Amino acid sequence: MPVLNDILAERLERVEKSAQRRELTVQEHESGPYVTRGGVRYLHFSGNDYLGLRTHPAVVRAALDATEATGAGSGASRLVTGNHPYYPALEEALAEAKHTQAALVFGSGYLANSGTIAALMGEGDLILADRLIHACMLDGVRLSGAALKRFAHNDTAHLAALLAEHREKYTNCLILTESVFSMDGDRAPLADIHALAQVHDAWFMVDDAHGLGFVETIPADIVSGTLSKALGSYGGYVAGSGVLRDYLINHARSLIFSTGLPPAAVASAHAALMIMQAEPERAQSVIAKATRVSEALGLGMAQGPIIPYIVGESGAALEASRKLAAEGIWVQAIRPPTVPPATARLRITMTATHTDEEVECLIQALGKQAI
Ligand SMILES: *Cc1c(COP(=O)(O)O)cnc(C)c1O
Repeated sequence: MPVLNDILAERLERVEKSAQRRELTVQEHESGPYVTRGGVRYLHFSGNDYLGLRTHPAVVRAALDATEATGAGSGASRLVTGNHPYYPALEEALAEAKHTQAALVFGSGYLANSGTIAALMGEGDLILADRLIHACMLDGVRLSGAALKRFAHNDTAHLAALLAEHREKYTNCLILTESVFSMDGDRAPLADIHALAQVHDAWFMVDDAHGLGFVETIPADIVSGTLSKALGSYGGYVAGSGVLRDYLINHARSLIFSTGLPPAAVASAHAALMIMQAEPERAQSVIAKATRVSEALGLGMAQGPIIPYIVGESGAALEASRKLAAEGIWVQAIRPPTVPPATARLRITMTATHTDEEVECLIQALGKQAI
């Protein structure tokens, strides 16, 4: 198929020219914050396993036990014969953790967000979204057919103005934001947005993918999240009312038409959730370390595990990442379109497994390179 490949090669060249070409590199993980890429071992600050539970012995044990007991895969959609007993156990625990009536586990956070938004909203409805929400929520908006308007990041005055101007022209209205923003690490003003939603008869959905374990209560109609970050496993979920759960079982196409998760994923996420709740000091240590790094960079107090070190252009962010790599430290450069133009950055993430010495190592390397 020469024509297809020619066209694709040309498009790739354009990506390459703007220093935005992406590649897959194989990396071998260890139980601590070390990763081997291309034969070189690095201390890394680039994962989402914030609480260090991905390799916790009890979490790994739960995955092995579930696999041995019931097999590698679930064998079917949850609506057919794939709804193994590990599901209700985890969903009850998630609902309790999120202080909601119910929770529903999806195949991933991507599928939970995109499927839920598409199922709830339709033509004639309005979605108001923070400028920086995750791509999977935007994909749900596109699938839904609802109108989209975006408000400036964490700007409740802008949101209020959009509600005042547009709300009445639409049937239903949904506001979307994140508890802790994935690429900026800051928190949304959840209480203020919730109050606005109530005044303007809008629904409020919060993606808690990076907040689990760090943000205690979320005032919203719908909370979504992932099992793949602080819980170190794989899968996604939506928490809310029992009616919402029943509705999504009947309308969320990403749940209905996709195979249930492997028992190992669900059982290990549940084990991780129990440890997260029993050991709050894990999250506390992450915040302490993130604050140490954040203050060293002149960014003030950390609001979560993610520290954005904004460099600007994509090429400069790649160069900054390369300089750290030369010091034996891996911090991934994040470039557009993942982040807005001219805000390419090093996205530094802290975990419970980083030692204080390793944190100082990072601070020194960042200082030395004068990035
Ligand atoms: C990672 C992420 C998701 C997707 O979750 P997966 O389980 O990895 O599909 C959704 N929202 C945000 C904000 C994320 O960072």
